[in-house]
Amino acid sequence: MAVTNIVQHAPKDYKSNLKPIWCPGCGDFGVLNALYKAMSICNLDPDNTVIVSGIGCSSRLPGFVATYGFHGVHGRVLPVATGIKVARPELNVIAVGGDGDGYSIGGGHLPHAARRNPDITYLVMNNNTYGLTKGQVSPTSMVPLASVQAKLDPKRWKTTPYGMFEEPLNPIAMAIAYDVSFVARGFSYKPNQLTDLLVQAIQHKGFALIDTFSPCPTFNQDQTDDFYKDHTYDVPEDHDPTDRVRAFELALRTDGFPIGVIYKHENKHSMIEEQAALKRRFPQDTPPSLETVFKKYH
Ligand code: SF4
Ligand code: MG
Repeated sequence: MAVTNIVQHAPKDYKSNLKPIWCPGCGDFGVLNALYKAMSICNLDPDNTVIVSGIGCSSRLPGFVATYGFHGVHGRVLPVATGIKVARPELNVIAVGGDGDGYSIGGGHLPHAARRNPDITYLVMNNNTYGLTKGQVSPTSMVPLASVQAKLDPKRWKTTPYGMFEEPLNPIAMAIAYDVSFVARGFSYKPNQLTDLLVQAIQHKGFALIDTFSPCPTFNQDQTDDFYKDHTYDVPEDHDPTDRVRAFELALRTDGFPIGVIYKHENKHSMIEEQAALKRRFPQDTPPSLETVFKKYH
């Protein structure tokens, strides 16, 4: 990551003039504050940082940060972020979005980002529902969300009035299977821990995924902040994240959700480094200017 040594930026320096328009109590506020702090600790230069998002409540985040931003299309945050990193490897690239955006329509991009291992931090705000479109079940929705249980409320879960029968995805186990080179889980109501995880992810050399529980109090009254508090525990101190088998065991535990760094593949090969080596081997003419490219298609 490109770190400036000249000016120390405080967390408030990363705030844009736009005020977040999330609902009161939305977990994304805590995630955003942790991100401001982590960027300050890493002293990221706002002029050399870009935040990329997909579509959803959490994907509004780039507008609230005083860096460059790209609010893309649904599920395409990783291809866009990878493209930016390939074109401008010196930039700090942080990708953000929700569980619907990242694990449903965008889910097919995750294994390929893992294979390419670009130096990108991917922060998923996981509220186990689609918030922006008013509370449909998402790939991480848990039974009894919109479920067959007595609390079925067709007004609340209007797109699945007869229940939700699919098992939720386990994004942590999935990321370990894909060999994402840094896999962690955070919780927006544990801001200091989340800040620390973000710092580690930003400083990690390679593709880092932080799946962060971020409650949606407006549309998910099952996975509330209390639910997450009751069903999460810190990664045990003696856990070795470089042990992939142990990381899988932790990810597959059924007695709750571990919070912390779960898996790390240090020194994993990176496409970006390979690309730099190729450029040295096959030097080419200066690429055409943007204007020249645009004229070609005008
Ligand atoms: Fe947050 Fe849910 Fe409101 Fe969206 S709908 S802003 S996720 S609380
Ligand atoms: Mg969501």
